Amino acid sequence: MIARRMRLIDSSGIRKVFDLARSMKNPINLSIGQPDFDVPENVKRAAIENIMAGRNRYTVTQGIPELHEGVREHLKRTRGVDAQNILITSGVSGGLVLAFLVLVDEGDEVAIPDPYFVMYKHLTNLVGGRPRFIDTYPDFRLRKEALRAAITSRTKVLVLNSPCNPTGITYTREELEGVAEVAREHDLLVLSDEIYDCFCYLDNCPSMASIYPKTLLMGGFSKSHAMTGWRLGYATGPADVIAEMTKLQQYSFVCAPSFAQYAGVTALEYPLDGACEAYRAKRDLIYNGLKDNFDVQKPEGAFYIFPKAPWGTDQEFVAEAIKNNVLIIPGSVFSERATHFRISYAAPDNTIKQGIDVLNRLASHRR
Ligand code: PLP
Repeated sequence: MIARRMRLIDSSGIRKVFDLARSMKNPINLSIGQPDFDVPENVKRAAIENIMAGRNRYTVTQGIPELHEGVREHLKRTRGVDAQNILITSGVSGGLVLAFLVLVDEGDEVAIPDPYFVMYKHLTNLVGGRPRFIDTYPDFRLRKEALRAAITSRTKVLVLNSPCNPTGITYTREELEGVAEVAREHDLLVLSDEIYDCFCYLDNCPSMASIYPKTLLMGGFSKSHAMTGWRLGYATGPADVIAEMTKLQQYSFVCAPSFAQYAGVTALEYPLDGACEAYRAKRDLIYNGLKDNFDVQKPEGAFYIFPKAPWGTDQEFVAEAIKNNVLIIPGSVFSERATHFRISYAAPDNTIKQGIDVLNRLASHRR
């Protein structure tokens, strides 16, 4: 009964972790992919006020003009991006579904730096494309030579995710310029998922869209404003791509949630520097706590760190951590390799410190 394409989506890795985690009573939880703060008060109030004012109906498919204006101004001011064509999406996830359906034909290759956010692989497979992974271990930087070597005559899209889930690696402007040089040689469309742009610990967070015009930039409110449940994001890029995504949104998601769109206008007016500074301190806490006992890169963005398992496979080390009440995610969920694990430090400092203690103890066990 179930369509064949569903066989291409394998969720066994993450299921195994949650099966193991079920027995945990009060875990030291370092697995969560969302901030540990709540939606800012004024944004919540804006959502409630708009619901009470009756703004509960379908909006136009492309999203309300006020939010277009807000996103345009935000991208100009914070990222130096001139966003001409915008589609408001049901989260970045909604935007990704539309983008893959619109861009990737059967047999097209999608270049994906590994480690990667899981949706890229599964959506590529779902639409009949072929993921072409670019191994970026051990430092997780994307070098133009590696990118060039991965490109074939079938490559259509390159997916970038900076700051990156799960590594926290954030590309510098020079790195992005190198990537753009190769993309230009092959006329690739770059799908740049910049959902973590608000958590960037470099001096500035360069956007691929400010460097390479054929970029489909995606961003959202899930991470910056902890609005994960409200399902709000945006896409901007080449006119024809945005037009086709809008057409497909009409026949799928219809529109992003109306109250969230109105509240999103308020969200964009809310300064986020405090959250970024707080998370930079958490990044320092986790990195300094692990660096002596783990092979680990210092993240420059997002709220994840991706150390190498000090012994065993990723699954074996994670199983041991779970036995010791620390919940982390095996790297093979995000990678073709099974050697690392992902920690989310979007957690209270005390939880992070407890996690560091346990992980350091486990690292010394079976050396
Ligand atoms: N892209 C990346 C890299 C993510 O880590 C996530 C969520 O974890 C998403 C997209 C999905 O975001 P949204 O809640 O806007 O759908």
